[in-house]
Parts: sequence; structure tokens; C-alpha cells
Amino acid sequence: MLGERIQHADWKSEKHVPVIECPDRVTSDEFFDVTVTLGKEVAHPNTTEHHIRWFMLFFQPEGGKFIYDVGRVEFNAHGEAGAGPNEGPVYTHHTATISMKTSSPGTLHALSYCNIHGLWENTREIGLA
Ligand code: FE
Repeated sequence: MLGERIQHADWKSEKHVPVIECPDRVTSDEFFDVTVTLGKEVAHPNTTEHHIRWFMLFFQPEGGKFIYDVGRVEFNAHGEAGAGPNEGPVYTHHTATISMKTSSPGTLHALSYCNIHGLWENTREIGLA
């Protein structure tokens, strides 16, 4: 099962774990920012051969049956060029901010994908003010 392939660890020691930055408590139905980043303590490489491809963000309302897809961000430039790997001028950095609102407390789930090291997940609770 796909869920069995999703890896978990402490983001302070494992560079692949997405870090979710957002308020602990939010106002119902008011937009707030969720920033997902990675490698805050231990930097992850960003090269043509080894990089983070995308983040996905989900929200599971407390007591709800189904999870909601909040958004996804792709990181598509990693130094690729006709001259060869890492010769290109453009790199995207693996950080993204998504604006969202909710009328329910719940749990954010961030999923990241490394082109070599696979899927990684982290979660963060959100309460209502
Ligand atoms: Fe990696």
C-alpha cells in the first residue's frame, strides 16, 4: 500500500521531512498562511540529480471522515540545461506558502517527494481561536 511507503522522522535530524509553519490557533473562516519548507536544520541538496519535486498539503477536520486536498506545489527547475546537468541558470527552492481558511479545527498533513529518497510526511494540529 502507498501509505506504507510514506516515511516519518524528526525534521530536526532528517532533512526530507516537511516543516509546517502556521498559527497554532486560527479564526474560523479567516484566511491564514501555511508555509511548508524542508531542510531547516539539515539542508537538502538541490541539484539536477537530487532534489525535492513537490509538496502536497491536506487537511483532516477533527472528527471528520474524509481528508481534504488543500494544494500542491511543484519545484520544476534544478539546473537542467542543454549544456548539461547543473549548468542551467534556474533553480526553484523547496518552500511554498499556501493561504487557506477552515471552519473546523483539525490536522494539516504535508507530503514531500524527493526524486531519490521518496515520500515523507509531517503533521500539525490547528485549533480554532
Ligand atoms: Fe533526498
